[in-house]
Amino acid sequence: MKKALVTGGAGFIGSHLVDRLTSKGWYVKVIDNFSSGRLENVEHHRSNLRVEVLKGDLKDSRVAEESVKGVDVVFHYAANPEVRVSTTNPEIHFNENIVVTFNLLEAMRKNDVREIVFASSSSVYGEPEVIPVSEDAPMRPISVYGASKAACENLIHAYSKLYGIKALVLRYANVVGPRLRHGVVYDFIIKLRRNAKELEILGDGTQVRSYIYVYDAIEATMVAYDNPRELFDVYNIASEDWITVNEVAKAVIYAMGLRSVRYVYKPVLHGVGWPGDVKRIALDVRKLKELGWRPRMRSREAVAKAVSDILHELKSYEE
Ligand code: NAD
Repeated sequence: MKKALVTGGAGFIGSHLVDRLTSKGWYVKVIDNFSSGRLENVEHHRSNLRVEVLKGDLKDSRVAEESVKGVDVVFHYAANPEVRVSTTNPEIHFNENIVVTFNLLEAMRKNDVREIVFASSSSVYGEPEVIPVSEDAPMRPISVYGASKAACENLIHAYSKLYGIKALVLRYANVVGPRLRHGVVYDFIIKLRRNAKELEILGDGTQVRSYIYVYDAIEATMVAYDNPRELFDVYNIASEDWITVNEVAKAVIYAMGLRSVRYVYKPVLHGVGWPGDVKRIALDVRKLKELGWRPRMRSREAVAKAVSDILHELKSYEE
């Protein structure tokens, strides 16, 4: 059975991936600095001898080097995923995303680890002229976060070609579900729990996105992994539809059982929420569907289910 390193394995998507890999009998090593990851996301593996959880910061090349030792494949999910942060603190994304990815690739090269799966993002496309956008469209990021993901993809491409490392790049849309603790859906829940009468919406509410439930995203990840085609390959991972931020607000309010909520819009520039926020993005998933994958949920359903998952988690802490 294979041994995987999951970087950021105590985070939202990473911890679901750990669940999935262990359920298939894999040995899994998690490395996380717990900056946004939480021990409770992986605590249920405490007595599983096939799971090892290490605390360490991958900005330190020695940590990267130690982590990759003895593994067959690196699932690289560690990053700072907050797009908004890059507007005010661009160096965070440079360090947490680009430097960390470089450290890992170097560690892999030196230790002869020959496979990497990378959690990239739809933000590499920037504002595509047509949506849904397919994998062969140019990367034209408009945020430093998107640029950092594009830089990581390019580094991975070079290492793949130079050193024969098998690389799978997965460009996720907005992933939602249990354990999510950032992004618009979580933000709306927290605001509405504080004030059930009013909801501040960053932007004019017409921004378009697609939302994928985390189980669909993990299934897509495994389908892409289990069906290798090229030494370096790229897939979009998203649901098949897209909705506006106003529709997300409506779904969250409905799922929380609220009524008569007043929207307060905070638009900047051309109606987006912050500089670097993309107005319209949706991903073409035909390439992934050719492998037989189908998402089970559409965007609205995914958001509604995620709201009920997260509310359930938040309530259980309070009990
Ligand atoms: P998350 O914040 O829950 O997970 C990231 C994890 O990485 C956290 O556990 C954090 O503690 C860890 N981490 C950060 N910096 C680290 C470092 N220097 N060393 C070690 N660990 C570190 O976020 P997520 O939503 O689970 O995102 C996982 C990956 O997927 C990220 O690369 C993100 O950019 C990407 N992604 C997420 C989404 C989404 O909608 N959630 C969409 C597209 C891409």
